[in-house]
Amino acid sequence: MSFAQLGLSDAIVRAVTDHGYTVPTPIQAQAIPAVLAGGDLLAGAQTGTGKTAGFTLPLLHRLSTGSNAPATNTQTRPIRALILTPTRELAAQVEESVRTYGKYLKLTSTVIFGGVGINPQIKMLKHGVDILVATPGRLLDHMQQGTVNLNHVEILILDEADRMLDMGFIKDIRKVLAVLPKKRQNLLFSATFSEEIKTLADGLLNAPAMIEVARRNSTVEIIAQKIHPVDRDKKHPLLSHLITTNKWSQVLVFTRTKHGANKLVEQLGRDGITGMAIHGNKSQSARTKALAEFKDGALQVLVATDIAARGIDIDQLPHVVNYDLPNVPEDYVHRIGRTGRAGATGEAVSLVCVDELDMLKDIQKLIKRQLPSEIVAGFEPDPNAKPQPIQLRSQGHPGGGGRGSQQRSKPAGGGAARSSAPGARTGGAPAKSFGGDQGAGRPAAPRRSGGRGR
Ligand code: AMP
Repeated sequence: MSFAQLGLSDAIVRAVTDHGYTVPTPIQAQAIPAVLAGGDLLAGAQTGTGKTAGFTLPLLHRLSTGSNAPATNTQTRPIRALILTPTRELAAQVEESVRTYGKYLKLTSTVIFGGVGINPQIKMLKHGVDILVATPGRLLDHMQQGTVNLNHVEILILDEADRMLDMGFIKDIRKVLAVLPKKRQNLLFSATFSEEIKTLADGLLNAPAMIEVARRNSTVEIIAQKIHPVDRDKKHPLLSHLITTNKWSQVLVFTRTKHGANKLVEQLGRDGITGMAIHGNKSQSARTKALAEFKDGALQVLVATDIAARGIDIDQLPHVVNYDLPNVPEDYVHRIGRTGRAGATGEAVSLVCVDELDMLKDIQKLIKRQLPSEIVAGFEPDPNAKPQPIQLRSQGHPGGGGRGSQQRSKPAGGGAARSSAPGARTGGAPAKSFGGDQGAGRPAAPRRSGGRGR
């Protein structure tokens, strides 16, 4: 199966081939013909499956070949396609894909998100673009200021719709939907299908084609995963040891909190390891710079919180480290999916202290396997260590449209996919040990509920 066989125009196939892709991924093989056919689509696919090209390629095809196709790439034109994404990073990446695959076409695009000046965006919008990629909050700002006109949208794409709902964007999305023309093509991509997503899909989609590709759990198979049991105060020296002795050159490290991310960057710096943190308290330009330097290989370590890292697209990222385990098990799968993407093999290592054994148990249950455990010589955990409560900072979601994200945050466990959110197990079963019997029978460390802590 080739991209040309899926019915895409030569100009698009050429751009895809230039980019080095020859064989469509399963989501692309299914989504492309469905979108080309012109109907609505409900697609279950996670980041890492190739979903972005899955909607971008047929979108470009439809816009460039239809009767409304622009004759030149300079003429002022209305927005014909709107792509909404939950985070700024994802918005930027999706627009980059639009540019990459649309490089031989006469279509224009721009991206708008919060955290950066609104005036250049107003100027771009005034000039007119065919394809607009946006986070909901900033789009709404433009709508309220009358600086965006969505009256001619032919195709609407909601990317990572579940994340948008998790981040409290549903009201914003509904306000956007209300101003779009009634007759249009709708594509909804979501990794999970909670009741909330189903309700949204029911109201939005008209007799949609439905496709679902294997959940990331199967991608997980190609990623070598292991845990290193370690004392909580030895995590930082262990990480420096692993990076140095294994000569890791590009490592994405996840911490639970923004503060933890900053602290770790400082600690690594003292060990001579270059790192930067990306999280919601960083300015957009700092986040973009850190990501660019990391992609270029100038930066050895990128330390990220879950939401800031969402959708980060780095081809063949070899190492992901869970410095802290995520408190939502599904985030483990999202995190390790940053490595081993689209068939490349990768390695995901989790540093697990005695406080996190319940989290480990939940993750293993979700991925339906025991993670191999390997104690690193010199970093043996204290068998008598007592678990301590894990402090989860209850803060708003940082990655959104940049408008009052504090108010957007909602209680943990809002959707079905988040049913094992923090707080659900407060004071639950006795803590389990790493595999031996140390710690068995101790009370579980209570965790604070009320927010996803990032
Ligand atoms: P996505 O799920 O859209 O975030 O894409 C995941 C990764 O797969 C990205 O790094 C893409 O560049 C890559 N990718 C997308 N389509 C293909 C393809 N047909 N062949 C190989 N890699 C691809």
